[in-house]
Amino acid sequence: MKTLKITDLHVEIEGKEILKGVNLTVNTGEIHAIMGPNGTGKSTLSQTIMGHPAYQITRGTIELDGQDLAEMTVDERARAGLFLAMQYPAEIQGVTNFEFMRAAVNARRPEDDQVDVMTFMKDLDRNREFLSMSVEMSSRYLNEGFSGGEKKRNEILQMLMIKPTIAILDEIDSGLDIDALKVVSKGVNSMRSDNFATLMITHYQRLLDYIVPDYVHVMMGGKIVKTGGPALAKRLEGEGYAALRDELGLQIALTDEDV
Ligand code: ADP
Ligand code: MG
Repeated sequence: MKTLKITDLHVEIEGKEILKGVNLTVNTGEIHAIMGPNGTGKSTLSQTIMGHPAYQITRGTIELDGQDLAEMTVDERARAGLFLAMQYPAEIQGVTNFEFMRAAVNARRPEDDQVDVMTFMKDLDRNREFLSMSVEMSSRYLNEGFSGGEKKRNEILQMLMIKPTIAILDEIDSGLDIDALKVVSKGVNSMRSDNFATLMITHYQRLLDYIVPDYVHVMMGGKIVKTGGPALAKRLEGEGYAALRDELGLQIALTDEDV
């Protein structure tokens, strides 16, 4: 079993404190969802776990099996089994999807045990078909000109190819129509096992109808303010965040779209 343990995490960006004491433990075999209003720090948490240099930890720790992530570079984190599907995947001109994925897969393997091209191609084709993606996706430049939904599918394709131990999926459902949502969910569900965990960040409960989580956490004002099961997400869908905020006596401003 692998464990990602976040303790009293405080994070600043450009001198502004965004995360204000996050506590969270994710074990392999578990599916966690984090929900929360806009601007509450969900993406900040995911970027900090992966090691984005703009996000500064001012207090607290993130540990993977007892090892402090602060001492690991981004590629060391990836090799240790962490994966982030970004909310806004970058477009990289001049690098094909195929090249990018092969490099990513090989980067996690020893120098003398690189994946051979035929094996890689078979695996890529199988996963691409599983996600109902067209064959030309492989030869196109990474995310360049991809629609929102294609980018999200491509993040899931990367996950299936890289086979991480702990995957953080930041709004993997945003901008997806119902068919694409089903495909993405099928991809995530196919990874479910005792050796895999995911931390899914989402704004809407809809995703959780397809990928049923073990735990649902609500983040507000840079902290996890409540943890429950799938019923908590259903309740939020019905009542919005304001009711929970008031029940907990929190002083947090919400925008119209969150209420
Ligand atoms: P969420 O993902 O929950 O919507 P974010 O983590 O993206 O929230 O953002 C939390 C807060 O941090 C917001 O107020 C946002 O404006 C700020 N923030 C996030 N990233 C940056 C950045 N790179 N530069 C400045 N402010 C940022
Ligand atoms: Mg976000």
